[in-house]
Amino acid sequence: MESQRAANFQSLTENVGRFSVKNKTFLIPEMDRIAAHLIAATFRGFGINAKVMDTYKGLDLGKEYTSGKECYPCLITTGDILYFLKKEHEKLGEAFNPEDYIYFMPESDGPCRFGMYNKYQRIVLDSFAEFKGIKIGSLSTKDGYSLAGMIERGRVRDLRKASYFSMVVADILDRLLWKIRPYEKESGMTDDFIERSMGVMEDTFETYGAKKDFDKILDKLDEIIEEGKTIIDSNIPPKPLIGIVGEIYLRTHVHANQHLIRVLERHGAEVINASMAEWINYTTYDRLREAKIGFRLNLKQLRLGPMKEYLGKILGYWGDLLYQEFRQKQAYKRARSLIDLAEDHKIAHLEGILKEDDLFTFDVGTEACLSIAGIIEYARGGYNGVVNVYPFTCMPSTTTSAIVMPLMNKLGVPYLDTPYDSGIQPGREAAIRTFMYQAYQHFKRHPRKT
Ligand code: SF4
Repeated sequence: MESQRAANFQSLTENVGRFSVKNKTFLIPEMDRIAAHLIAATFRGFGINAKVMDTYKGLDLGKEYTSGKECYPCLITTGDILYFLKKEHEKLGEAFNPEDYIYFMPESDGPCRFGMYNKYQRIVLDSFAEFKGIKIGSLSTKDGYSLAGMIERGRVRDLRKASYFSMVVADILDRLLWKIRPYEKESGMTDDFIERSMGVMEDTFETYGAKKDFDKILDKLDEIIEEGKTIIDSNIPPKPLIGIVGEIYLRTHVHANQHLIRVLERHGAEVINASMAEWINYTTYDRLREAKIGFRLNLKQLRLGPMKEYLGKILGYWGDLLYQEFRQKQAYKRARSLIDLAEDHKIAHLEGILKEDDLFTFDVGTEACLSIAGIIEYARGGYNGVVNVYPFTCMPSTTTSAIVMPLMNKLGVPYLDTPYDSGIQPGREAAIRTFMYQAYQHFKRHPRKT
């Protein structure tokens, strides 16, 4: 018993972490569909055999191997990896070797449970004799999702830069989808177009990502946007604008959120979701912020060694953040010169919003920092309603809800909480319809210019 327990702990430390992906199949869970596929394509451009796993098909397995008290994304991703491995095992038979794969499950060091998914999934995978040998590749917010150790040292920074850029381009493609679909000439045109465009962009990232030829990638994005504009029926008048915030997995995983954006669109909305790059920028910003605090504390005590260490971190994270903001701005500027897409915000700006009325603080961390400030940003930006989407019992999103609800009443902007688990809530459709009615009233009082 004792030796079994020791073996379990050993597995948690030895089989979860950062591993070289050389000669391995790198398995990426699908969260935001476009982002997952563009990141995988970028990795392939660097010679890594990256593959996006099917999602949601293993939901029953996820339910079977969780207790029901875990966060919903943990349940879904547990099902995804088990479903993939079981299918692969069936397909390859004797030739199946779990050591050929690395399953990607990042983590966060925040006060909530995201840091535990990969540990929990390690225990689940270890309970199958045939899956024990698969490693879980984990990146952490602790070092701003550094990719060090995964590939040769000389290419780590390029991989990070290209991966980040793929996420920005995925955000823009998502925004293009949400911009066009409510105004499309024929039902289904936008979905077909975006699916095709995602394939084009995968090829583009696979070819140019590793060369960091971002201009070529943006040229291709221009072509896609130009084509997308032809789908818009200019006779359809503007619709109420709804902003989404919340927990990143739920708001970007369309099965998990039961196609929330599509449902809102069906009830007359144009929707914009918070971006994926926002989270990456936030983790870099937060590490920089922590390094500055560490430096100041040691300066007060004149501890030169730690001061030097923190100074190095400040310069490193500062450089990363500047680079990310530069690339993001560059891509949005190009896209926005062709079509009126919503811009993304800087994280420092969001922190500034929270500080105005001491609503919340980055010292607490988590996505609540982004969601609370993001909601206020939407309200000030003339949005006609805001939806907070999150897994049932999600700690940061529940905090967000508690803080913003009275605020939204004061601001007079419709607001809706939409917690999800795998069940269908009977009143959800009614809640969304009521919310959209309120948003439409707001829209009539505050019409959009074009
Ligand atoms: S953010 Fe919410 S859903 Fe994600 S791990 Fe934390 S509590 Fe769970």
